[in-house]
Amino acid sequence: MAHQRMNTLDRELSARLAEIRRAGLERRLRRLDSPQGPQIVVGGRRLVNFASNDYLGLANHPAVKEAAAKAVADFGAGAGAARLVCGSQALHQQLDEQLAAFKGTEAALSFSSGYATALGTVPALVSRGDVVIVDKLAHACLIDAARLSGATLRVFAHNDLKDLEAKLRWATGGAAGKQPRVLVVTESLFSMDGDVAPLRELVELKDRYGAWLLLDEAHATGLYGARGRGLAEACGGADRIEVQMGTLSKALGAAGGYIAGSRVLIDYLIHRARSFMFSTAPVPAAVAAASAALQILQSAEGQQRRAQLWARVDRARQTLAKLGWPLAEPPSPILPLRVGSEARAVAWAEQLWAQGIFLPAIRYPTVARGQARLRLSVSAAHTAADLDQLEAALAGVGQPALSVGDASAG
Ligand SMILES: *Cc1c(COP(=O)(O)O)cnc(C)c1O
Repeated sequence: MAHQRMNTLDRELSARLAEIRRAGLERRLRRLDSPQGPQIVVGGRRLVNFASNDYLGLANHPAVKEAAAKAVADFGAGAGAARLVCGSQALHQQLDEQLAAFKGTEAALSFSSGYATALGTVPALVSRGDVVIVDKLAHACLIDAARLSGATLRVFAHNDLKDLEAKLRWATGGAAGKQPRVLVVTESLFSMDGDVAPLRELVELKDRYGAWLLLDEAHATGLYGARGRGLAEACGGADRIEVQMGTLSKALGAAGGYIAGSRVLIDYLIHRARSFMFSTAPVPAAVAAASAALQILQSAEGQQRRAQLWARVDRARQTLAKLGWPLAEPPSPILPLRVGSEARAVAWAEQLWAQGIFLPAIRYPTVARGQARLRLSVSAAHTAADLDQLEAALAGVGQPALSVGDASAG
């Protein structure tokens, strides 16, 4: 086949890709030939999967799949239009009501993804002349949303209340009558570190300065709190959080995102959240899957799955402690093994792969440079044998002591 001459864009991009490769940051899409679950088939090999966010094993749950299939039969494959046009089917309305009931808020609004939720919501609430203060380790979609809003962006050190207060003082320090609107944005359970925000103190602080709070519970929804609502429920301050965000794509095993809050907030977002207004409604199958997962979450089976998850988390923590890995408190299903160097993280992931464990390296730009890690995540669907296999495989790779030194040096 004749080799086509590269145009100038492609030439430029291949130089950039070469740079990425040189830095040890090349990525490749791996093809999965199985459903999501504790065991997956990749490249013809069956591996135990410790990389998924399907914490409760709902992504391939029979009742969730059945609900999705029934939605296709009843409502079709596509939604046809944005919800404000003619795409707002009974299923969408039902999901929003279900979400509000689940979160214990007046109202809720679902979006096609968690990413779209952030991108639509933050710019709807603040704009030029306002201030957004974001945790240093907040998810990319929260940073992008803050930038897109046009508000002045300030970043506070991760979970650092002193630094947050300094930024709040700065933001609200102007002359009376010239006070900007201030929105604080953070996560409850952090996606790559598995640690949690000091929510009680954070809520106190933002109230003291008259700021608003958007709390992203992407990884905590379904796992924490007496009813599985998330960490805001567990901490007891949910009713003082103006904007509660989450996804339907992690513990709920489906796809989509949501905002839960007051009726006024939701009414306003319907008018101003552009990712909601100008994007086709989520497909019936995804909406019905999320609905079914929400039902399971709130049933006896949901309780049982949560209990099972926490038992598996305990077991994984014992393994890590035995091997000398530091652990975060309180426990979470996200257990980062901080390796430090990108090359070593990739090498360890390959060693684990050879032993039947799927636990790929997480590198820049998902985390900072020199802070590469293996992000171990545990699911209720893992068996005791899966965790035995993990322990045996981890015992064979490198020493944590080495890597901790690395991380602090970098
Ligand atoms: C995954 C994630 C999102 C994005 O959700 P999607 O539904 O995958 O688009 C948003 N916020 C956080 C903290 C996340 O981890």
